[in-house]
Amino acid sequence: MRHDLVVRSRRAVLPDGTRPAAVAVTGPRIAAIEDYGASLEADRDVDLGELALLPGLVDSHVHVNEPGRTEWEGFATATQAAAAGGVTTICDMPLNSLPPTTTVAALEEKRAAAAGKCWVDVAFWGGAVPGNEASLRPLHEAGVVGFKCFLLDSGVPEFPPLDVAGLRSALGSLAAVDALLIAHAEDAAEIKPASGRDFGAFVASRPPIAERRAIENVISAAAATGARAHIVHLSAADCVAMIAGAKAAGVRLTVETCPHYLYFAAEQVPDGATEFKSCPPIRDSVNREALWRGLEAGVIDCVVSDHSPCPPELKALSSGDFGAAWGGIASLQLGLSAVWTVARRRGRTLDDMARWMASAPAALAGLPAKGRLTVDGDADLVAFDPDETYVVDPARLRHRHPVTPYAGQTLTGRVRQTWLRGIPLLEGEGGTPVGQLLKRG
Ligand SMILES: [Zn+2]
Repeated sequence: MRHDLVVRSRRAVLPDGTRPAAVAVTGPRIAAIEDYGASLEADRDVDLGELALLPGLVDSHVHVNEPGRTEWEGFATATQAAAAGGVTTICDMPLNSLPPTTTVAALEEKRAAAAGKCWVDVAFWGGAVPGNEASLRPLHEAGVVGFKCFLLDSGVPEFPPLDVAGLRSALGSLAAVDALLIAHAEDAAEIKPASGRDFGAFVASRPPIAERRAIENVISAAAATGARAHIVHLSAADCVAMIAGAKAAGVRLTVETCPHYLYFAAEQVPDGATEFKSCPPIRDSVNREALWRGLEAGVIDCVVSDHSPCPPELKALSSGDFGAAWGGIASLQLGLSAVWTVARRRGRTLDDMARWMASAPAALAGLPAKGRLTVDGDADLVAFDPDETYVVDPARLRHRHPVTPYAGQTLTGRVRQTWLRGIPLLEGEGGTPVGQLLKRG
C-alpha cells in the first residue's frame, strides 16, 4: 500500500524502547512501524538519521485564558508555542478564561472561541467549584477530560475553592461516572502573607506543610469515595513518600510535577525576579533532587508545564514584589528542553521523557490515540535533536508574552519538526491551524 508519509529514525522512541524504525502514516494515523530501512511506498519519505523521533508530547496542564483574558494568552499563540516545543496536544485548564469552564454552556463558549485557531489538538478540563455539582455529569458527558478544583483561593474570584466537605462531595459525584478530579493542593491555613522582593521570604510563606495538609485531604477523600484523584504541580518533595504510601494502599492517586521545579532551585533565583513566581513555589536544590528521585522511582507520574502566563505588567516586573506578582510561569515551548537538559545529565533516556511527558499525561487525560508511537495511534511526531544546545531567546518564543524565567538559560535538546496527525506544523510562513478540539476517550 502507498502511505502519505514515512518518517525514519535510527532513534525512534517506541513504547517498548528506542530502536531504528520507519513510521508509516496513512491519513491521520500511524499505519505501520517497520524496520528503519524497510521498503515502503510513500508520497513523502523523511529520513531523520540520528535525530530522535518522539511521540508528540501531551501537556495536560495549560492555561490558555481565552475567551475573557485572551490578552494573557490565547489559543492561537499557545498552540503555536506548543507546536514549536514538540507538544501536539494540550489540555486547557478551566480557569482564568471568562467564563470559567464550570458549565456545559461555558464549555461551548470555550470551544467556539478555540475553533479554527488551534495549531495543535486541544482538550478541555471542566471545573469543580462550590454550587456546580449538578453540572459535573453533563460536562463529563460533553467530553471534558476531568475536573479541576482548588483547595485555596485560586487567584481569580470566579473560580472559588472547594472546602473539605465540598471536595469529598465532588469526588463522590465523580466516582459514580469514574471521572477524574485534579486538585491544586495547598492549604491556606499554612500559608502566610508575603510581600517584597525577597524570594526566600516568598518561598517560606508557602511551606511544604501547606502542600502536605492539602494532599492529605485529597488522599482521605479519594480513599473514602473510591474516586480517581490527581495532584497538580507537586513542588514539596517531602510529600512523595506519603503519595507512594497512598498509591501502595490502593488509593487511586496520580501526581504531576513541572519543568520549573525540576530545573530551577530557589538558591539561584535573584530577589525581585518575579518571573520565577509560581504557587507552590520553586524550592531549594535539596528539594529538587528529591523531586527527581520521586520521578525516577515512578511515584510522580508525569511532567507537564502548568503554563500560566499573564501580561508583563501583572508580573510586577518593575517593582519585583512577590506579593503583587501573578503566580504563574510560562514554559509551554521550553518544557521538553528544560527537563531533558537535567534528565540526560542524570543518565535518563528519551524513553523516560516520552513516558513522563507524552504517554502518562495522555493516559491521565483519557486520550488513547495520543502520546505513543503505536499502530492506529494518531501520527503526532516530533523530530528531536537530543544533543543540540541553545540559549533561550525570549524573542523566539511564540507565547503571547515573552516573559519567562528561562530567558538566557542554555538548554539541551531542540525540536526540529513537529507533525500533527501526519501534517507538518509551522513549516515556513503561513499555513493553517489544523488542530482539532478533542473529547475524552
Ligand atoms: Zn495551573
